[in-house]
Amino acid sequence: DSGREPLVIIGTGLAGYNLAREFRKLDQRTPLIMITGDDGTFYSKPLLSASLAHGKTPQQLASASAEDMARELSAEILVHTHVSDVDADTRTLTLVPEDGSHQATLRYGKLVFATGAACRPLPPMAGDGLSRLFRINSLGDYHRFRTALTSQRKVLLIGAGLIGCEFANDLTQAGYEVDLVDPLAWPLATLLPEAAGRDLQSALERAGVRFHGGRKVATLNRRDGGITAELDNGDTLEADIALAALGLQPNTGLAEAAGISVDRGIAVSRTLQSSNPDIYALGDCAEVDGHLLYFVAPLMQCARALAKTLSGDETPVTYGVMPVAVKTTLRPTTVCPPSPGSEGEWKVEASADGVCAEFRGPDGQLLGFALTGDGIARRDSLSDECQPIMT
Ligand code: FAD
Repeated sequence: DSGREPLVIIGTGLAGYNLAREFRKLDQRTPLIMITGDDGTFYSKPLLSASLAHGKTPQQLASASAEDMARELSAEILVHTHVSDVDADTRTLTLVPEDGSHQATLRYGKLVFATGAACRPLPPMAGDGLSRLFRINSLGDYHRFRTALTSQRKVLLIGAGLIGCEFANDLTQAGYEVDLVDPLAWPLATLLPEAAGRDLQSALERAGVRFHGGRKVATLNRRDGGITAELDNGDTLEADIALAALGLQPNTGLAEAAGISVDRGIAVSRTLQSSNPDIYALGDCAEVDGHLLYFVAPLMQCARALAKTLSGDETPVTYGVMPVAVKTTLRPTTVCPPSPGSEGEWKVEASADGVCAEFRGPDGQLLGFALTGDGIARRDSLSDECQPIMT
């Protein structure tokens, strides 16, 4: 159907590819073009922090090549190609191929940003060891890390959030020695009340992780073949390699330059529409009706709703209760955080078998929960009771 203007999706992460799959279930005719700065491999990003324990190499995480995906989706996929400009008036993209060949332009009918997020800039650290500090937010990043990890033994992990704790779990289980440093007092401190965080910390420590809570890395220096980190209390840690997991920030620069409203992420309504009616966003780059969530469950909800909207049936997304399973197999942990700024307090039941913490508002309403160990058995009943993210 050459008369139709293409649907163009920027990004081939889980957001871009799942949207394309959902869209093709409803519309097989509209031309579909996807553009990515990477090689377009389809992979499950959550597996990056659990693949050593699964005995998987980075190559084994690649479940389909861009070519396979292009065939499956009847799409044209432009890999190693960077979108450098969006002209929303003429509905034209500027494409810059990585190989240095000529820039090209591309017209779209509807455009979707699925541009993901990038690792937050590092806090100031002195020393010459930054070149041995890895960060992981893509299969390519992970491949580089795993290659450098070969024949190493001691890993310094900076950041004990979701991803940092999962890597600590995975590396320890695979036989590496791990020092885990975080400026907050206990692991997952922004998501878990102290009792649950300490419970996870104990499980990691029993398996050999050395946790340095309330500490920052002040200096990172190279030393023959490895690194030395000095903490802000003067302690010194030696490691072969370092990994920082210090959070993400949405990739919004391209949208902002195109004059699209950006708040913390690309600001979209519940129909995933941006301030420009022909432009949509989903996934880690998008702030959906004020909610910025870097998880797979919300992006899947968005992919289903947006596919309907783009095929002519305008459908708002609804976020229900979306508990996140932290892949810390040493102490299974599930968290359903209350919305930021919610009024209420944690009520904690803790035993040697696990923690069940409920975050209740002033009228007793369940606004969030955190479970570890056997506490996880309460997941479904608490999910049924908990207030959904969007009402
Ligand atoms: P991305 O995967 O970042 O994709 C962005 C795409 O945009 C890429 O293809 C990139 O090349 C492209 N792009 C960006 N800018 C441009 C440009 N200008 N031009 C061309 N292309 C561009 N979530 C869970 O729910 N459960 C988990 O257990 C879990 N574990 C995780 C473990 C790790 C180690 C990590 C890093 C994340 C984890 N997450 C988890 C989060 C989840 O994986 C992400 O929310 C999700 O994968 C984001 O997908 P995305 O498509 O929005 O972004």
